[in-house]
Amino acid sequence: MTPGGTGVRYIRFLDTTLRDGEQTPGVALKPEEKLLIAMKLEDLGVDSIEAGYPAVSEGEFKAVRMISREVTDSEVIVLSRSVRHDIDRAIDADVKAIHLFIATSDIHMKYKLRMNREQVIESAVSAVEYAKSHGLTVEFSAEDATRSDLEFLVKVFQSVVDAGADRLDIADTVGVMWPSRMAQLIKLIKGRVKGNYLLSVHCHDDFGMAVANSVAAVEAGADQVHGTINGVGERAGNAALEEVASAVRFLLGYRTRIRFERIKDVSEAVSKLFNIPVPPNKAIVGANAFSHESGIHVHGILSNPLTYEPIDPSMVGMNRRIVLGKHSGRHSVEYALKMLGIEPNDEVVSRVLRRIKELGDSGVNITWEDFKRIALTEIKGEVSEDSRN
Ligand code: MN
Repeated sequence: MTPGGTGVRYIRFLDTTLRDGEQTPGVALKPEEKLLIAMKLEDLGVDSIEAGYPAVSEGEFKAVRMISREVTDSEVIVLSRSVRHDIDRAIDADVKAIHLFIATSDIHMKYKLRMNREQVIESAVSAVEYAKSHGLTVEFSAEDATRSDLEFLVKVFQSVVDAGADRLDIADTVGVMWPSRMAQLIKLIKGRVKGNYLLSVHCHDDFGMAVANSVAAVEAGADQVHGTINGVGERAGNAALEEVASAVRFLLGYRTRIRFERIKDVSEAVSKLFNIPVPPNKAIVGANAFSHESGIHVHGILSNPLTYEPIDPSMVGMNRRIVLGKHSGRHSVEYALKMLGIEPNDEVVSRVLRRIKELGDSGVNITWEDFKRIALTEIKGEVSEDSRN
């Protein structure tokens, strides 16, 4: 298998930062902020941008329409219940693609929709037919698919494919899947539902497995993954798109059209506008994702970064950081002194290292400014001792 070569499977990414992500409790964006994120997502190279849910409010409708007019490189898609009113709002918002959904689990049908199975299939099919008759690309999600009766799920999916749906999406709405089970489900759906469609997954992180489930789905044959930048979203959030895409590309070796080097920039913008900080230990985009403190690790990194890094940080727009602290060793100090333009000698390295370990032991988090001060002080100390001799 040649990563990036022809004949390698292509995986689509549908970003739902602006729809499911915006449903994060306490988050609401202005239309111009949504547009700014949409432009960054287009720049990142996601295949589809789920811009919002036009039926929920006037502001949302305007934002979606604006995004649909400005974005040219990615498909702009909007969420819609399988009802005519929502579909009409999507059509009015000038979008070319629609994400129709209806719940298929017994608990949702009974307590939320108050519909029986036949009614659910009928609504789904007539919504798909209506949207297709208006020339829209249709992605159809079975909400709560992973808690649905399997035979019924197959029947719903087959009915909407027969009605013209272009893509099917398995929504793990409350995040109850695990990787091996997700793989089984993908194989079952692909084997049982006949026709010309792409299969997608939409995973939530309630048990911390949204990314793992998405990757397992891709490996088992899913063609598309829904994700959000930084994993924002309802409750514990959605699958982090930057993590799934990186794993799909760098571990599985499949093709995507993601411009990985832009990831850091999009992540920062989403963090700022959503007012949700990125945890330092977060995969791919966390401040510590490519940081090293331990002397052993830094020694390895300085001789060959791949000793303690899975990929070069520049591949995802990140920088390597060597952090100084009580775990540091001589190699870190030599490296840092060289970065200051100082050719290290053994004596200075020992003194600086001793001082850094003292500070680290007293609980101080050593910044680059601290290091510069320590280095200059210790060098001066050495100079004045020299001059005494
Ligand atoms: Mn969701």
